[in-house]
Amino acid sequence: MDKVADLLVIGGGAAGMVAAITAARLGVQVRVVERMSRVGKKLLATGNGRCNLTNMKLDISRFHGGGVADFARVALERFDVKQTLAFFEELGVLTKEEDAGRLFPITDQATTILDVLRYEMDRLDVDIVGDANINRVEYKKNLFACYTAEGTEFHAKRVLLATGGKSYPNLGSNGGGFKIAAALGHHVVNPWPVIVQVKLAVPFLKQLDGLQIQAEVSALKNGAIQQKSRGEALFTDYGLSGDAVLNVSRVVSESYREGHEANAGKVEIQLDMFPDKSEAEMLDLLLKRFAAQPQKQLDFAMVGLLHKRLIPVVLKEAGCTDLRVLCGQVDRPCVGKIAAILKRWRLPAIGTLSWMHAKVTAGGVDLREVNAQTLESRLVPGLYFAGEVLDVDGDSGGFNLQWAWSSARLAAQAAALAQTR
Ligand SMILES: Cc1cc2nc3c(=O)[nH]c(=O)nc-3n(C[C@H](O)[C@H](O)[C@H](O)COP(=O)(O)OP(=O)(O)OC[C@H]3O[C@@H](n4cnc5c(N)ncnc54)[C@H](O)[C@@H]3O)c2cc1C
Repeated sequence: MDKVADLLVIGGGAAGMVAAITAARLGVQVRVVERMSRVGKKLLATGNGRCNLTNMKLDISRFHGGGVADFARVALERFDVKQTLAFFEELGVLTKEEDAGRLFPITDQATTILDVLRYEMDRLDVDIVGDANINRVEYKKNLFACYTAEGTEFHAKRVLLATGGKSYPNLGSNGGGFKIAAALGHHVVNPWPVIVQVKLAVPFLKQLDGLQIQAEVSALKNGAIQQKSRGEALFTDYGLSGDAVLNVSRVVSESYREGHEANAGKVEIQLDMFPDKSEAEMLDLLLKRFAAQPQKQLDFAMVGLLHKRLIPVVLKEAGCTDLRVLCGQVDRPCVGKIAAILKRWRLPAIGTLSWMHAKVTAGGVDLREVNAQTLESRLVPGLYFAGEVLDVDGDSGGFNLQWAWSSARLAAQAAALAQTR
């Protein structure tokens, strides 16, 4: 039998690495087993390679999951943004704040975060085993035995499952942790992809493919606005991408999650292309613009207001059949419809892209079966959880990494404390 580790961390992602450091600093002998050849591959991809590591405007309302508010609050308060920044500063990382409270390393490099975590794990003699894909965990007589498909065994007194969700499986997290948790008796809330591109059912996608605009993007369910975000919206051949779209995509992906498609209801993405003007101001602007140039063709009169490729699409969406009609002949109701499309362009959504593209996984290990104070399983003593494997997901903006750091700290401290009892 191999040496029995005090704590075996399954998964060397954001949560697994911080958990390993936390427990090792408390004197616990830690081994990390990681299915990829190296730890932290996903971390390098975060924040477009810059790692948006947390957010100054942390609020529990930015997190989702079953009963998440009471559950996640404990970890997020015990290791909050201030403590997170102090933790990374102690490791040598200076940070800077950008829009909407998002924090990045001052180097603009995600590798900074990975480098300091790896350095600290080395310093603390954390044993890291790569290419170890755990697919079975057994718990017998106060001891865990963890097996890879190839038959390698790892033994430990405690196990911390930090295997992430199902997003970006090419970077490591492929849902294997859900199977391990389920095999140990846990219920797993069926996962679905979030922070993900939206598919639309509209005929003009080819025409607009690659066009990027700035807009206030809203997601609507049965006519009511659920989420809003201002920023980039990018038309693609399947629908919409861009930060503002990803930020509101949860409404779409939750409606169309597996098994719920038939009851999705009416889901729409709304684009406000002039968020700093009211609809009345937009109407006034168009009326004045058309009145000032009555001999100009309608489509040409829109040049300077909208990207050229958008003009015929927007006019058709507003119900204009003759795009070359002279401005002087366009009646007021028609101008009203154009203003309405510019301000409230509703596009029917029919789902999202899947795991290869989704930044985060919603769903996961049912929170009711995990003690919020320790993140220890209520079913298997000595089994702890951290990060995205749990049924907690955050909005875009650094909230998901904060959950990974905070939950890792809480679970690792509890596991280490239990060790010394
Ligand atoms: C492209 C992209 C950009 C993102 N950008 C941001 C951002 O800027 N800010 C932010 O807050 N969030 C961001 N996220 C989300 C964030 O990266 C995750 O929420 C966070 O990494 C979750 O941490 P985790 O440790 O729980 O899981 P992961 O980071 O996914 O780590 C899980 C680890 O476990 C390993 N593993 C899985 N199964 C097994 C197994 N059976 N045996 C052994 N090892 C296993 C995996 O290989 C992986 O290394 C981004 C995500 C993506 C995909």
